[in-house]
Amino acid sequence: MGKCITCGNEYDASFDVIKEGQTYTFDSFECAIARLAPSCEACGIRIIGHGLQSGQRYFCCDHCAERSGVTELKDRA
Ligand SMILES: [Zn+2]
Ligand SMILES: [Zn+2]
Repeated sequence: MGKCITCGNEYDASFDVIKEGQTYTFDSFECAIARLAPSCEACGIRIIGHGLQSGQRYFCCDHCAERSGVTELKDRA
């Protein structure tokens, strides 16, 4: 039994995600994504796949990075 830190729901099938040494408890992937997934700087969608990172800037794809003037990034295979 764990309590979701995003929505506060207590759920018997909750799960933990460990990120940078911190443990987060969630009741659903939706809540985990809402809390942990970065947003694309260009289009604002949640980045659930690998995405692209340039310093502290995140992009969902090569195209969005280029639109924002970041040209050194390429989609990871
Ligand atoms: Zn939740
Ligand atoms: Zn994007």
